[in-house]
Amino acid sequence: MFQHVEAFAGDPILTLNEQFAADPRQDKVNLSIGVYLNEQQRIPLMGAVAAAEERLAQSFHPHPYLPMAGSPSYREHARRLVFGVQAGEPLADRVATIQTLGGSGALKVGGDFLKAWFPQAKVWVSDPTWDNHKGIFGGAGFEVGTYPYYSRETHGVNFDGMLAALRALPAGDVVVLHACCHNPTGADLSLQQWHDLAKVVQERGLLPFFDIAYQGFGEGINEDAYAIRYFAQQGIPLLVAGSYSKNFAIYGERCGSLHVACKDADDAAKVFGQLQSAVRKIYSNPPGYGARIISTVLDDAQLRAQWEEELTAMRVRMKQIRAELYAQLKAKLPGGDFEYLRVQQGMFSYTGLPVEQIRKLRNEHGVYLIESGRMCLAALTSVGVTPVANAMVKVIT
Ligand code: PMP
Repeated sequence: MFQHVEAFAGDPILTLNEQFAADPRQDKVNLSIGVYLNEQQRIPLMGAVAAAEERLAQSFHPHPYLPMAGSPSYREHARRLVFGVQAGEPLADRVATIQTLGGSGALKVGGDFLKAWFPQAKVWVSDPTWDNHKGIFGGAGFEVGTYPYYSRETHGVNFDGMLAALRALPAGDVVVLHACCHNPTGADLSLQQWHDLAKVVQERGLLPFFDIAYQGFGEGINEDAYAIRYFAQQGIPLLVAGSYSKNFAIYGERCGSLHVACKDADDAAKVFGQLQSAVRKIYSNPPGYGARIISTVLDDAQLRAQWEEELTAMRVRMKQIRAELYAQLKAKLPGGDFEYLRVQQGMFSYTGLPVEQIRKLRNEHGVYLIESGRMCLAALTSVGVTPVANAMVKVIT
């Protein structure tokens, strides 16, 4: 019956992780992963999350199904975090929000919703982007194309190329945008570029789908949501896939949110119904435990402040690692251009190292990066910076 089923080629990052695990070298470093690690090389358990779990453990509660749209208090918090508004404010009333299974679930439900109501649209993602964007939107039945994004020359955004490509798209096409901390390049738009992009999106009648998987990892919770809030204030209809995986370090509990900002509250009510219909057809309703943790933290002023402090410490640590790696590389190779390490945002940087040098890093020095040259700085410790900088200098020179 299943003879014709083809073997799954696997995920190149996961394959590399397996290779890393089997590597006997003591001083190996894995910078290929997509999670934040602390100085002890572990996924942190945030104090605010642990405190919320303790509270939940002390109170007996059953495990009912959540509504299709998820927990109402979680939804309210998620909308406030992304849009900075509370229920009753005009913008809040025209945003339909549901709880989802991580950011991936938000992209999937959003994708299915869009395919049902905008069947002719094409979806455009940045070149390069998080690989699963193509998988999820392709899986929802869309043709997925790319727009220029990263410039290897400047290590920044090829903004002219991006705008020119978007200007040529037909009205109604969907443009996936990383709100902050672009994965995989770390290169983000400036405020002025977001303003210019909003104008083009509005003039061309495009539909932006923001992906914000690293809110708080760039410049701050509010700063990282700037583009979304600006577009929404301009009255541009848009979608947002939010994720708590990284900023609560709650990866496996699958906590995310999908938001659709509409023209008015009537449209938002209809869209809200259709989002629930999309959920019903995929998994009926979302899981409860992670939502309880998030709501417990964000409902309580003290826990919320603690969470923000811990998130700030994670962001500051990533920036320190960037600065330290930059300083060491610059000292050892004064002619090299490593400024990108300081300018790029979030967990990742594109090193621009050619694939032969990436392989040398792995084979000769036990430093694992994926072959695109993406480096996860959030997996580097302060002790690990010097050996990694030395290895980079050796393969570059
Ligand atoms: N979007 C981007 C850009 C990501 O990097 C990720 C996670 N690696 C996701 C979405 C998915 O997030 P989640 O793990 O919450 O599904």
